[in-house]
Amino acid sequence: MKIRVGILTAPHIDYERRENGTFLIRNVRIGIGFHWDRNEDQIFEGELEILHNADGTETAVNIIDLEDYLTSVISSEMSALSSPELLKAHTVISRSWVMRLIERERRIASAGTLRSKAFEDGGHVGFDVCADDHCQRYEGLLRRNDKAVEAVRATAHQVLTYEGEICDTRFSKCCGGHSEEFEYCWDDIHYPYLESVECPYCDTHDAKVLRTVLNNYDQETQDFHDWQVRYAAQELHDILLEKSGIDFGEIQEMIPLKRGKSGRIYLLKIVGSKHTEEIGKELKIRRWLSHKCLYSSWFDVSREGTDWVLTGHGWGHGVGLCQIGAAVMAEQGFTYEQILAHYFKGSVLQVREA
Ligand SMILES: [Zn+2]
Ligand SMILES: [Zn+2]
Repeated sequence: MKIRVGILTAPHIDYERRENGTFLIRNVRIGIGFHWDRNEDQIFEGELEILHNADGTETAVNIIDLEDYLTSVISSEMSALSSPELLKAHTVISRSWVMRLIERERRIASAGTLRSKAFEDGGHVGFDVCADDHCQRYEGLLRRNDKAVEAVRATAHQVLTYEGEICDTRFSKCCGGHSEEFEYCWDDIHYPYLESVECPYCDTHDAKVLRTVLNNYDQETQDFHDWQVRYAAQELHDILLEKSGIDFGEIQEMIPLKRGKSGRIYLLKIVGSKHTEEIGKELKIRRWLSHKCLYSSWFDVSREGTDWVLTGHGWGHGVGLCQIGAAVMAEQGFTYEQILAHYFKGSVLQVREA
């Protein structure tokens, strides 16, 4: 199966074909909107197609075999320090994600309707996925390593399925002890294979394991399984004003109204002297209650004097695979099949050579 990857450069493509059949593209933009946003020259294999857009700009599309694409993605997204079974589990997840997307988008296209709105908004016209973090990070041949080559080869064409359909293979950093279910984070759809499971694995401070999952391990806090955030009354008011644009007045109460299976709050009532509002789901709660983003929405609220104290668990939405838990499982000798079966209950590994 071939995949069409949109490479983002602006506004014109500066490229050069090389003798060995690869090509070099100058000033590829990576990490768009993130703090590592920068331009880089990259080398690709496969075919290059230049799209001439209506607004006069150009888009480079790299047409490449899906398995080769995945080798670059795993090299870019995962640490070369990761254990082989973790790399294999992530390869199956990445492959399932992209094949589910392509199947859905092509089904929509063949029905003669426009592509789904999320993709139009991302400007993904004329290609399946972009090369940046928005989809999956793909940096051509630049960082390709042998461990990723081996993980892709060992799991060739394998995807995770449930009743014949490719699974929605979500993952997050650390579930905090229990994974969450899809409907408490996004649309009200129940996926049986995303049932909440216990995860005794991610409660770790093992530096060797954490370095394989956290790109900025040395800069980041390692207290993500159990954490605490404290705000002075005025600070909480100011954060809410900054993030929501609403002046709640003096915050009087914060009441978790509804929680998902893991304990993540998906409806929170904020009572202020000037304004009261019920907010959800988890991502909105995390954004409104932090200058950046709260680790998760799984927390209890208490007061110490006039301070607000949030005592919480986990990092991320917690749905699907727990990356830190999976890394620990791999370290303990579980196979990638066992890791995937743990986080995606009832799912089946299938070979798909569409
Ligand atoms: Zn994208
Ligand atoms: Zn976990």
